[in-house]
Amino acid sequence: MTVKTLSYDVLILGSGLAGLTTALHLAPNLRVALVAKRDLQEGASFYAQGGIAAVLDVHDSIELHIRDTLNAGAGLCDPQAVRFAAENAAAAIEWLVAQGVPFTRARQPDGREEFHLTREGGHSQRRVVHAADATGQAVINTLANQVRSCRNIDLFEQHVAVELITGAWLRRPTRRCLGAYLLDRITGKVMPCSARFVVLATGGAGKVYIYTSNPDVATGDGIALGWRAGCRVANMEFIQFHPTCLYHPRAKSFLISEAVRGEGGRLLLPDGNSFMKRFDSRGELAPRDIVARAIDHEMKRLGAEFVYLDISHKGAEFVLRYFPNIHARCLEYGFDITREPLPVVPAAHYINGGIMTDLRGRTDVDGLYAVGEVAHTGIHGANRMASNSLLECLVFGRAVATDILSTQNAAPDPGELPNWDESRVTDSDEMVVVSHNWDEVRRFMWDYVGIVRTNKRLQRAKHRVDLLIQEIDQYYRDFRLTADLLELRNLVLVADLIIRSAQQRHESRGLHYTLDYPHTTDEIPTKNTVLTSPHYRPR
Ligand SMILES: Cc1cc2nc3c(=O)[nH]c(=O)nc-3n(C[C@H](O)[C@H](O)[C@H](O)COP(=O)(O)OP(=O)(O)OC[C@H]3O[C@@H](n4cnc5c(N)ncnc54)[C@H](O)[C@@H]3O)c2cc1C
Repeated sequence: MTVKTLSYDVLILGSGLAGLTTALHLAPNLRVALVAKRDLQEGASFYAQGGIAAVLDVHDSIELHIRDTLNAGAGLCDPQAVRFAAENAAAAIEWLVAQGVPFTRARQPDGREEFHLTREGGHSQRRVVHAADATGQAVINTLANQVRSCRNIDLFEQHVAVELITGAWLRRPTRRCLGAYLLDRITGKVMPCSARFVVLATGGAGKVYIYTSNPDVATGDGIALGWRAGCRVANMEFIQFHPTCLYHPRAKSFLISEAVRGEGGRLLLPDGNSFMKRFDSRGELAPRDIVARAIDHEMKRLGAEFVYLDISHKGAEFVLRYFPNIHARCLEYGFDITREPLPVVPAAHYINGGIMTDLRGRTDVDGLYAVGEVAHTGIHGANRMASNSLLECLVFGRAVATDILSTQNAAPDPGELPNWDESRVTDSDEMVVVSHNWDEVRRFMWDYVGIVRTNKRLQRAKHRVDLLIQEIDQYYRDFRLTADLLELRNLVLVADLIIRSAQQRHESRGLHYTLDYPHTTDEIPTKNTVLTSPHYRPR
């Protein structure tokens, strides 16, 4: 049976803050398909609690925002990208306010209402705009409503991008990205979707680790799709572990925002003593990697399953005003943070590396863009400063849309694309292979490629991932596609890219810490770890 190719000006894979922002900037002029693996709102963006960094206070400055970001990035930020983000931050917040996002305000001594700004780890100033402690929810709900009412945007919820379609792949005389195959999770059918431009906005890859703050959709699909299409990736070894996820068997990935420490929350050992000052003079406000490593160190030293985070000394009124969501969620698990400390553990939170892009979001493949957590723009360097990632989605989402709008007339129509070939596959007889391998990859990544690494651990992980890649590729060729299988295939590829990048960095820097090379080299300029896809074609 011939399936008619869906056809759009722009195909956006992912409906988090990066995808929604790009779509809304394009929609007045172009026809957009917006694809989400699950429901429209489901993604890391929705769960963001802390907020968005932007210079909005008279005592703050763009130069300070840049300086703080470069400091956190430990020598690997691209200064141009950082400046671009910092300079465009205030306009991005204005745009969100114009869309209707209800940010928290505070009355000033002179009676004026201004944004209430919090201060988070690494920031020298209060510069984090937020909507109480559920910023992502407020932002995503507002933008999702806008997208749903846009005539030019067609939504494809419950659709998973299987593979990008490129000219090279079809042996056509073009190197452009021409569209993608989409799996409808409900019907199980795969259909081609053609587009003059394709945007990867698929978010991060936290699910590659067994403990993560990320939602289930974060399986690194966009990184794998881009890599297989010929994109280079950079700095994949830099994984941020959030220091404080709630430790509870039922709380799969509930994060306790950095803002809790920013507003005076203290980390305590099981015996009630505080310990952060022993590791860093900034104490609880040290950058995340230092806090996560300190907790990991103390937990290993004491054989403890968790440490405590305590904000109860600030009083119930304060806690309920600034952390109503965290308070309510913790109550569901039996903890009242206005009265008692919370048990917390570190968990994989953010991937700094990703598909390499320029300041317009362009990748190595013509017509293919990457934006948001899937992309490596260079703003985070070796360590991401809190609240800079939502900012990156907003600023670069707009940049991608601007570039597409300015080049649309030169972009050819890809025409009909071939159907997905299912003639040689059958239904899987052993789904246990998929579930077993899911668990295996996440477990060895945690044990061997986690907060503290060694050459030996990385070697062990590499050996295992090589076997898994072979096994899963065979399975992928023989059996009908399911979302679980697609995600697993992407997850092991991303695991492999992380391991290979970690093996190439012979030093400890930012989020990459190895006992075999515990020092930071003083090589100037410092180098990004760039891996080149076998399908890469230089321009
Ligand atoms: C709990 C938590 C709290 C955070 N708090 C903050 C914060 O306060 N401030 C801050 O700056 N950052 C924060 N971060 C980081 C930030 O939220 C993310 O980096 C950012 O939201 C990523 O946005 P995104 O649009 O790139 O991806 P996401 O919001 O994760 O969206 C990804 C989208 O891609 C879709 N998708 C994925 N794969 C496919 C596929 N194969 N086919 C089709 N669709 C696909 C998903 O369905 C989803 O729609 C937090 C992260 C977490 C997990």
